[in-house]
Amino acid sequence: MAKIKNLLLDRDGTIIVEKHYLGNPDDVELLPNAKEALKKFTQKGIELFIVTNQSGIGRGYYKTEDFFAVQNKLYDILNEYNVKIKDIEFCPHTPSDNCTCRKPAIGMWQNLKKKYGLLENETAIAGDKLSDMYFGINAGLLVNALVLTGYGLSEKEKCSNIKIDIIAKDLLDLYYLLEEQRLI
Ligand SMILES: [Mg+2]
Ligand SMILES: [Zn+2]
Repeated sequence: MAKIKNLLLDRDGTIIVEKHYLGNPDDVELLPNAKEALKKFTQKGIELFIVTNQSGIGRGYYKTEDFFAVQNKLYDILNEYNVKIKDIEFCPHTPSDNCTCRKPAIGMWQNLKKKYGLLENETAIAGDKLSDMYFGINAGLLVNALVLTGYGLSEKEKCSNIKIDIIAKDLLDLYYLLEEQRLI
């Protein structure tokens, strides 16, 4: 039976509190249970990646260097818990750029797949938006998991006819649900 070896994580609203165009490291705030969840995934030997749409860059709300400052703040916090994010992919474009990397397009998945030899049937996506779910569907990932943090609750109302494999309260709940279903 297929098992998840790689977990692709949306960032805003999934790992950290959704702050609506976050460009200031001082505003990084982890969601409750996020550190514990990521630590558990790490202890299971699951590789963690972030795939994040950052149209705030393309819209001119913050710069790429601000985005990296935010990332470094997040890494510092996760380091204390011995959690390592193996790599991050981000899309700096706006919807009107029609790029191939903004979720639900799968450019970020294709980059990671090529770079690390990842397989679809060993990879899951966790995110708080339907664009994360469509990303997983478009990429053909094993598990598409919606978390009800961030925009998750309101997004859930819109998702009647799309393939969502798991709906979890947060990342920690997701960990236990995946364990229960023997997917990790
Ligand atoms: Mg999000
Ligand atoms: Zn893009």
